[in-house]
Amino acid sequence: MASFPLLFDLGPQKPTTRDVANTVKAGGTAALTEAERRADQARYQEVTCRSALNPVKGMPFDWTLNPYRGCTHGCHYCFARRYHAQFEMDSGDEFASVILVKQNIVGVLARELDRPSWQREQVAFGTATDPYQPIEGHYKLSRGLIQALARGRTPFGLITKGPMVVRDIDVLLEHARAAHSTVYMSVPTVDEDAWQQLEPGTAHPLQRLRAVRALVDAGVNAGVLMAPIVPGFSSSRQKIERTIKAIADHGARFVGCNVMYLQDGTRDHFMRFIDREFPAMRPRFERLYVKKYPPEAYRKEVQAMVRVLQERYGLRKRKEADAERTPGTALHETEQVGFAW
Ligand code: SF4
Repeated sequence: MASFPLLFDLGPQKPTTRDVANTVKAGGTAALTEAERRADQARYQEVTCRSALNPVKGMPFDWTLNPYRGCTHGCHYCFARRYHAQFEMDSGDEFASVILVKQNIVGVLARELDRPSWQREQVAFGTATDPYQPIEGHYKLSRGLIQALARGRTPFGLITKGPMVVRDIDVLLEHARAAHSTVYMSVPTVDEDAWQQLEPGTAHPLQRLRAVRALVDAGVNAGVLMAPIVPGFSSSRQKIERTIKAIADHGARFVGCNVMYLQDGTRDHFMRFIDREFPAMRPRFERLYVKKYPPEAYRKEVQAMVRVLQERYGLRKRKEADAERTPGTALHETEQVGFAW
């Protein structure tokens, strides 16, 4: 009899992410016997985290904060898929169906922000998961984290595809009185086909834009990231223009965009998805993604197009005023591109 389930027989303390990784390594995700299966068919494994903030270098922010790992939104291009390997899980189905829940993260963050050494540096919230994926309605961890950041007078940028963020307008405003914060709603495209093909578990793009409208109307600093634009799916000028117009019509304070990049497990998953659903596109992706990004000339060509459209719909000025600090490397100005494919 394998001994790994003993990890979960030691009283009320939840396993750490390392415990989970060891358990999955020994017995696969079937060995996560405490993981709760919910109506969405995903399994939720509560874990104990030792730290809430993770330091990063060379980014426009200093720390990352992620209350969950894995994401039931299941976007096929998700760059966070590759991180699931840290838990001995695959970047495909298990990324979207086995979610780790850091059930003690709010208290841990509060203690970290209380330290005299804390410098109130910029925190990027939601870099490896969506903090407003459906399970947040149950755990309310993101809400608690925003409250803790407000008490700690710590600035943050939060990225999400979850309209549920409007639930927390009250705490976002409470935070805004204490420090700077920005909500980045991710809406790569308003094209319905691309949305259904690429982001199977997310809310409709217009629902996300209505959430942006609600945030902005309430006084929250909120805008949109077309992140990522996916060649062949959401990259035509017509689709990009429709998306930028819709973003402007919904009152976003800024818009940025970035091209899909493919690396490690994310690349493996995306290519399997293409082989399965759109095999005729495979040769084009292979040519375009010799490296993790498409060629620079290709990106620059459409970057110019996106800038023209930002200007046309009055979003360039709003962006310059509001989007100085962003929650991901893919959001650097030099990487804000679009596609003509
Ligand atoms: S919503 Fe964000 S974190 Fe979730 S799968 Fe999509 S891209 Fe990844």
